[in-house]
Amino acid sequence: MSDYTLTIEGKACAADKTFGVINPATEEVFAQAPDASKADLDAAVAAANAAFPAWRDTPLEDRKAALNAMADRVDAEVDSMAEVLVHEQGKSLANAQFEVRGTAMWLRASAATDLPTEVLSDSETQRVELRRRPLGVVGAITPWNFPLLLSIWKVGPALVTGNTMVLKPSPYTPLTVLRFGEIVREVLPPGVLNVVSGGDDLGKWMTDHSDIHKISFTGSGPTGKKIMASAAGSLKRITLELGGNDPAIVRGDANPSEIAGPIFNMAFQNSGQVCGAIKRLYVHDDIYEDMCEALVEKAKEKTVGNGMTAGTDFGPVQNKMQYDIVCDLAKSAKEDGGRFLIGGEPTEGTGYFFPLTLVADLTDGNRLVDEEPFGPILPIIRFTDDDDVVARANDTTFGLGGSVWSADTERATQMAERLDTGSAWVNQHFDVSPFLPFGGVKESGMGVENGPWGLAEFTSSQVLNIKKG
Ligand code: NAD
Repeated sequence: MSDYTLTIEGKACAADKTFGVINPATEEVFAQAPDASKADLDAAVAAANAAFPAWRDTPLEDRKAALNAMADRVDAEVDSMAEVLVHEQGKSLANAQFEVRGTAMWLRASAATDLPTEVLSDSETQRVELRRRPLGVVGAITPWNFPLLLSIWKVGPALVTGNTMVLKPSPYTPLTVLRFGEIVREVLPPGVLNVVSGGDDLGKWMTDHSDIHKISFTGSGPTGKKIMASAAGSLKRITLELGGNDPAIVRGDANPSEIAGPIFNMAFQNSGQVCGAIKRLYVHDDIYEDMCEALVEKAKEKTVGNGMTAGTDFGPVQNKMQYDIVCDLAKSAKEDGGRFLIGGEPTEGTGYFFPLTLVADLTDGNRLVDEEPFGPILPIIRFTDDDDVVARANDTTFGLGGSVWSADTERATQMAERLDTGSAWVNQHFDVSPFLPFGGVKESGMGVENGPWGLAEFTSSQVLNIKKG
């Protein structure tokens, strides 16, 4: 029996089976989530298909009003949803509240973003317009690091452009998204937003489903590749937001004590479980030791613990699979002669806790530098030459984001322009907003989310060409 229900055709649905959801701070199963069957998915897709024509034809202003009403519902539930989020994800209560509030903010931002018809030509003889039409039923498949917010990056744009949706959260963190489905049921016409939870098989059934017209996916690269192959069967449109191994390059003219704070935050936010976190820090030889020291000071100020405990800054790694990856990469760094400035050994006791860890004296070729740890561990790599470091930063299959830090903004900008990444930041990292496009190149994904560019991903273009006279 689960306290949480699927949302199908605007109604609560219990699945025949349930699965346990683990609190990563205690390793205990603290709740059961409905395990949707293929028949449940078929019902959700059928409901979304049936709801599509009327939702597509609903005036844009009414669709926008629905998004704003959803945001109001979320705002009214910040405290209760944030507690569930801490229990299933592990993050601190303050960060969970930030994510829930961000969800409401992002819904309102989607409602405020327009994708107007473009007039391509207008003469005495012809008028040509580029129009945007919704695709139909969108399947959204999301990860466990920001379960609610990354789902809403898809829900807002898909619904405001006139699509209907079947949303599937990660099996590690299904509860906050299921709760979201429950609280917005009365705001939307039945079938416009369906929420189903289950295992990875459920995702596969979605990508195979002939009545789903687009898959918007955020998650790992290997799953992204499977989704692309599966979507080919019915030529579904896809947007893939995948993993990253973001480099940050700190030039020798930067001031370590000034930039240690933002660099630390962008490496360790959400315990490093952020797609666009700093995952490789290249520091010029001239300021290498000073930068290491300044970062260690930042790490010492922070507390790792249960997200519900007052004073906790960082929670555990979200699940055992990811925890094992982080432990393994730390081991490999040790074997390759990495100098552990702080942290490094898994915390003894219950929970998937790993300390904030900074590793110096590693270089490219070590697994901790080359692979995405997605956890609270950062390698700091020495460099001496600008061109060489840009080449090393680009020598990867990843291409999500990257940054250059320097007192010389012009020089840093020239270097940032040469990063093979979807986003390149100067003297900042991972500055994302609902109004700026975000996405990866190379194996970090295809397509973008957010802003009018993100809305366009949920539409097909139609050229309307009218002869005059
Ligand atoms: P994951 O790929 O294991 O799972 C993501 C989702 O895909 C889950 O809902 C899962 O059930 C589903 N899934 C698994 N197998 C599937 C299949 N064969 N077909 C369809 N769906 C399937 O990823 P994760 O471990 O949950 O998330 C961590 C990864 O996500 C990291 O690599 C991280 O960098 C990446 N990520 C990227 C972004 C971005 O915007 N680029 C944002 C957050 C996380």
